Amino acid sequence: SSINPTIQQPVAAGEEEEEEVLSSEQYSCVSRQQLQIIRSSYSSSKPSPFLLSRLKEYEQRHKRCDPFSASFNRSSRELKPEEDEAENYCRYIVWTPVNGLGNRMLSISSSFLYALLTNRVLLVDFGPDMVDLFCEPFHNSTWFLPRDFTFKGRANTQLLRREEEQKKEMPYVASLLQLFLSYDNDDYDKLFYKSETQPLLKKVPWLVLRSDQYFAPYLFLMPCFRAELDRMFPDDKETVFHHLGRYLFSPSNQVWGHIIGFYDAYLAKADRRIGLQIRVFSLDKTPASLILSQVINCIQEESRIIILPNATTTTTTTASSSGRNRTTTTTAILVASLLGQFYTELNRMYKEWNEKAGATVVGVYRTNHEEMQVLGSSSHNMKALVDIYLLSMCDVLVTSPRSTFGYVAHGLAGLTPWILQSQDIEDEEQRVKEPACRRGVSKEPCLQFHANYYDTSPDHREAGGPVPVIMDCEDFQYGLKLV
Ligand code: GDP
Repeated sequence: SSINPTIQQPVAAGEEEEEEVLSSEQYSCVSRQQLQIIRSSYSSSKPSPFLLSRLKEYEQRHKRCDPFSASFNRSSRELKPEEDEAENYCRYIVWTPVNGLGNRMLSISSSFLYALLTNRVLLVDFGPDMVDLFCEPFHNSTWFLPRDFTFKGRANTQLLRREEEQKKEMPYVASLLQLFLSYDNDDYDKLFYKSETQPLLKKVPWLVLRSDQYFAPYLFLMPCFRAELDRMFPDDKETVFHHLGRYLFSPSNQVWGHIIGFYDAYLAKADRRIGLQIRVFSLDKTPASLILSQVINCIQEESRIIILPNATTTTTTTASSSGRNRTTTTTAILVASLLGQFYTELNRMYKEWNEKAGATVVGVYRTNHEEMQVLGSSSHNMKALVDIYLLSMCDVLVTSPRSTFGYVAHGLAGLTPWILQSQDIEDEEQRVKEPACRRGVSKEPCLQFHANYYDTSPDHREAGGPVPVIMDCEDFQYGLKLV
């Protein structure tokens, strides 16, 4: 039975449903409260007062414009371009899904940041594979786009193209515009990233976004947003996703039940929790045995995350019931991977070692192994979210290069990960590249595909260019991240 009765999509934008779906007595999100307690023991970073005030303001706007509001009803029926610039006019950005869960959570958080900057309201067009994943983020309101809202056929995808080609003084303004900010976006789509395009977009009440990218870093490059972003994140630019992600994404009660059950059973009691996120994009290019050696080299040699005490001479010891000495420090390793063999091998390896030591000093755990990525499955996405959150509750993280799944985990954790080196092998020689992993430069996710409107080269940055908060990603050529 569902333990999360209030998480459901509104079927229509009728105001009469408000009381039934959203009474605050019914609204309860267990993970939000429990995560606050768990995280308070290890998270030091706090959102700035200005960001908090912008979030509060946002919540009021969301409530005023949400799918149960009269403004939404009017705006969605009429779909008129904006003529007056009235401040209380409701403008929307509708997020639509593309790609895996990591990609999706990154683009949702970027859309939210864009909504904060442009006074829009973020609505999400979740399909059945996503509706049960998260609690509603905005209290006493909903972020679900009503199912009967159709923007297909009404979208104007040509606006930016026409604008560019005709260079009109007063361009035709659409009421609804689709934006593509994905790995495959073309030069016209990329016009979004130009500061000069933003006044035109401001006039469009409905933006429908298809994006699999963490495009937040690029907003810092755009002169039109920079001052506001500096006020929101005055000191620490590497906590943008950390704060926005934690604010937006609280696992639904159903998902949280799995997370906290596993956490309590295997991770909570350990002195140290180490998360290994092992994402293999192609087993043909990188055999599993090679990746396993790389992971072991990384945690035992390069990063020295796991320092195995000598099995016979332990330093801090207490007498166990069997009379043998055992160490008091225990380490729990969480292995998150689609493939089962990494857990099996690591578990075997550390079990042998524990036997020699006469105590369970290193425990190896996993939640599931789905074997392959599945698109469109609710239960598959729930398992993915369970892994992402458990990783984010670890103290140290080792992540796979280029994986947005790993980006989300370390971003939510607020940790700078150890990143495994890309290991694709072109030749016959199968050996682990040195070093097996490197410490990342930031806690932030990487924006992998973007535009080239601003000079982000290291030379420009070193010469005191206007973008000192951006660096190249460690794991993705031409990628950018906030530092
Ligand atoms: P990316 O492809 O690594 O950038 O990450 P995405 O999250 O966008 O897409 C990969 C998808 O594969 C995830 O959303 C999951 O559905 C699945 N997946 C990948 N790694 C794991 C894992 O460690 N655990 C689980 N449960 N699913 C995973």
